[in-house]
Amino acid sequence: MPSARSDFTGNRAAAMVAAMLRLTQAPDIAMAMLWRDLLCEAGMPASVQRQHLGAAAGQLPPGECLPEIWLAHEEHAERARALLREFERLPQRQWLCRACGECIEGGFEQCWNCGAWMPR
Ligand SMILES: [Zn+2]
Repeated sequence: MPSARSDFTGNRAAAMVAAMLRLTQAPDIAMAMLWRDLLCEAGMPASVQRQHLGAAAGQLPPGECLPEIWLAHEEHAERARALLREFERLPQRQWLCRACGECIEGGFEQCWNCGAWMPR
């Protein structure tokens, strides 16, 4: 798997990402967004990067490019990992959207695909 860091070229870009850290890979984009929000709320700025550059780009459909969580400050890594571990231990809610049939995971109350609300 190519490192996203190696996709950055030039000194300016390299300096810009020097303190960023690739924390982990999320199973899907919905989970990635949730983790990012979780980290941001805990005071650890993070961003979601799709792993769509490099050799895999031509071989996988966009939906199968796993999103990555990047921390803005690498000194947050230990706390961030602990937070995500803690979060994974919680029981995950999972529901099926009646409007579009999408399977919603990770505590969302609204379908990320079509915007319908979780059935009560
Ligand atoms: Zn839906």
